[in-house]
Order: sequence, then structure tokens, then C-alpha cells
Amino acid sequence: MREGWEAVIGLEVHAQLNTSSKIFCGCSTVFGREANENTCPVCLGLPGALPVLNRQAVERAGKAALALNLRINRESIFARKNYFYPDLPKGYQISQYDRPFSESGTVEILTSERDEAGRPTEWVLKCFGITRAHIEEDAGKSVHDIGHPEKSHVDLNRAGTPLLEIVSEPDFRSSWEAYDYVNFLRRTLQYVDVCDGNMEEGNLRCDANVSVRRRGAERLGTRVEIKNVNSLRFLQKAIDYEIDRQIIEIESGGRIVQETRLWSDRENRTYTMRTKEDAHDYRYFPDPDLPPLEVSDEWVERLSSGLPELPEARRQRLMKQFDLSVEDASTLTSQRELADYYEGVVTASGNPRAAANWILSELLRELRLAAIGITRCRISAADLGAMIRLIDNGTISGKTAKDLFVEMFATGATPDEIVERKGLVQITDTGEIERVIDETIAANPKQVEGYRSGKTSLIGFFVGQVMKVTGGKANPQAVNEILKKKLG
Ligand code: ADP
Ligand code: MG
Ligand code: ZN
Repeated sequence: MREGWEAVIGLEVHAQLNTSSKIFCGCSTVFGREANENTCPVCLGLPGALPVLNRQAVERAGKAALALNLRINRESIFARKNYFYPDLPKGYQISQYDRPFSESGTVEILTSERDEAGRPTEWVLKCFGITRAHIEEDAGKSVHDIGHPEKSHVDLNRAGTPLLEIVSEPDFRSSWEAYDYVNFLRRTLQYVDVCDGNMEEGNLRCDANVSVRRRGAERLGTRVEIKNVNSLRFLQKAIDYEIDRQIIEIESGGRIVQETRLWSDRENRTYTMRTKEDAHDYRYFPDPDLPPLEVSDEWVERLSSGLPELPEARRQRLMKQFDLSVEDASTLTSQRELADYYEGVVTASGNPRAAANWILSELLRELRLAAIGITRCRISAADLGAMIRLIDNGTISGKTAKDLFVEMFATGATPDEIVERKGLVQITDTGEIERVIDETIAANPKQVEGYRSGKTSLIGFFVGQVMKVTGGKANPQAVNEILKKKLG
């Protein structure tokens, strides 16, 4: 940030709720169907077709609101937001306006600035306000680039998909705070299983409102809205670009106009989409076809008691309980299933550090290479735990374990099975190790001489030889000790 300036950022996030049918009709929400296959008179906006609210959508919205510490209004109102656009057949979108589903929440998030290389500098806990989260329907999609270049197409499969719009207070002071917040939202929504959080597919869409002001100033500056950024990293870059642009503009005597801008990743900059002059007056009014949405205390209670431990709480618990770093705990809690897996391995192995190491290095790498998620991993948490126990009690060496792990990953066999079948049990019998060492020393007089005349790094050569003969099964500590004694 430039000296003497402060950035102010507020975020509007649209989360697609993962219901099986649309919000006001029974049409499927399945992705990838023929254009306009998932439609009916209601979502096509035909006259006289009546919307009926989907209970599942309200339940999803309720879980999300509770997970974000929002207050759920016992009565909320659906309103028509009127505007004309080809992908909006009714001429209005059903949304909520002055009586939203939920409002007034505060969330506590670990956040950090990043250095030039993108590494976190210092993690701090900060509170951010969420103004409201309301329920609305999605619009359809205009498709411009198929067939005739002068024709556009409209696909209404998405029209009527339930969304939760989550509006934050203008509480973020840097692009990385915004980044950490959206990441937090995404993980939280995934944990409570209401949204898959996929930004690339548009299931989580983010608009950033950015303004700057002189440090110490009370009044907020004029804001610019950046729309439709489809990845977290681009969002962060777009905000940074925008902060700089605004400061330079003001310092060179210009002023900021309230407008909507888009991010170009190719050019690494934002550009004007429309200025406020074309801004819509949406003429909101309560939808006469839909009664107020009422929810009971019991309903809220029931949802609340069904919530799982949330990611931020879990990250902090894991850090404390198992002495993990922020980064390790973040990765392990990035997905609920992965965190469950980790805790399963800890229970089975009794070794939290080793469990974290194996998952963070070997397991995540293999999953990435196989392009599968943790839910499809063939090594069960119990088996990985059992493997760690085999290392810890000296049955197998660390080197054997690496090969064992690869085989477990590929075949799903248990560690005991493979160790037994392949005879991988580590040789801890010092008599046998001594015998191999004596042979090795006898077979390599030159190296023995070298070692004795001071080239002690040759110890590695001898360890290697012994390991080769024993198929990697000799206990390395014993090998080292005996070798040093014998080479003396
Ligand atoms: P609209 O619906 O027209 O976009 P809102 O008043 O609902 O307007 O604000 C939308 C978002 O803009 C909110 O997240 C809010 O925190 C943020 N915001 C409002 N004023 C500013 C400002 N001056 N600078 C940065 N963000 C702002
Ligand atoms: Mg807005
Ligand atoms: Zn429909």
C-alpha cells in the first residue's frame, strides 16, 4: 500500500445452493444437459405460472447463515427486482430486498499479508462483518460464440437455480484479507454441504467493491465494483490493481467515478464495463405470488444442532491439539473429508506428527498424480495409521515404508498383507547385520582404506552396500552404529 493511503473493500458473493431441483419449480439443476432441457413454464417465466418455494433451498440457506453467525429473520420477504435482459425471461428476478433471510453476522478469520513470492508473512485473527445473506434465483445464460456470429443464444437451464447472496461490510483493508475471506466462505459452505464452492464453474461468484481514502479519513471514498472474477487469485490481483489505479488517479488530480469494471487476466488490469449513469433503478416490490417466508425457532434450533465443527474452529483446534503449523493445519482442514481422514490416521497411529507428514507429502502428491480426491483414496485412514505404527515399532524401515505406501495406494491392500507377502520385515537382528557388514568390508578394501585415512563421508557408501544386500530391510541405525565400530 502506498504511504498515507488506506484501501476499503466490501464483497458480494453469490453462492449456488446445491439443491437437486430449482428454487421455485421442480426442474432439475443437473449441469451439462441440452440447452433449455431443464425448463418448465415457471422458470421460463410464462404468464400465469406460479412459483412454489423449495424447502431444501431454504434449509441450505439456513445452514449457511448459521455457519456464518448470521441472524435468521423469522419472517423474510421475496421481492421482484425488475430489469430487462435476454437471459431473464420474466423481466424480473425474484430476490429479497429490505427483509432479507438473514443479517448481521461477524466472522473471525486467520488472515495474512503475503510477500513478493506469495508466502504468508504473519497470520493474525481478525473480525469481519457480514451485512446480510439473502435468497434469490439465478438468471439464465446468454451464449454468444456458437454458430452464426451475429446470433446469440439463450440457455435457461440455470434460470431459477437457488443462490445465496452474501454481502459483507466494507471491512477489508487489503486484497489478501479479501482473498482469505472468500476462501473462508468457500470452505465453510463446503463443510456444511450447501455449495460446492467451485469458482471456475461459476458456483461461487464474487464481486469486489473497492475504494481508497487518505489514512485517518472517516468518509469512505467513491467505490468501483469489479464483477465476475472467476478465481481467487484473479480476485486478489484485480483488487490490488484497482487500489493502485485509484490512488494514482487521485494523486494526479483526477477523481474516481462510480462504475462497474471487469478484470482482464490477459492484460492484468481492470477496465470499464459500465458507469453509474447506466445504473438500473430496479423498482423492487414484494412478489405478490409468494407469501412471506416464515421459519420457526424449532426449525432454526434443529439446523443449528446439526452443524458440524466448522473449518476455522477445526483448524485452530488441530493446531493446538496436535501442535501443527498454520499452513499444515490449513491444508489438512481445507476439506472436511481430508480433516476427517487426518484425525482417523492420528487415532490409528497415535502419532499426529507422522500422520500429518505422510498426508501432506506422500498422500497428497499421489492423489494429485492420480487426479482423484481423498474420498476415492484406496488407503483407509486405519491402514495408513497401521503403517505408521509398523515404522514406529521398528517392524519396517522408513525406506521400506515409502515403497509399501506406493503399493498400498495402488492396490488398496493392508500394510500387514504386503509386509507378510513380500517379507519386508526389517532386520533388527544385529548378528545378521554384522555378518553382512563383515562381508561388505572384506569386499571393499580400497574404500576401507580411504575411510580410515580420513574420508569419513565414505560411510554412506558402506550403508548403501549393506542396504542393497539386505533389500533395504536392515535397520539403518543399527547399520550405522556397527559400521562405525568395525571401521573404527
Ligand atoms: P449495491 O447493491 O448497489 O452494490 P450495497 O450498498 O449493497 O450496494 O453495497 C455492496 C457492497 O459494497 C457491500 O459489500 C459494501 O460493503 C460495499 N461498499 C459500500 N460502500 C463501499 C465503499 N465506499 N468502498 C468499498 N466498499 C463499499
Ligand atoms: Mg453491488
Ligand atoms: Zn422449471
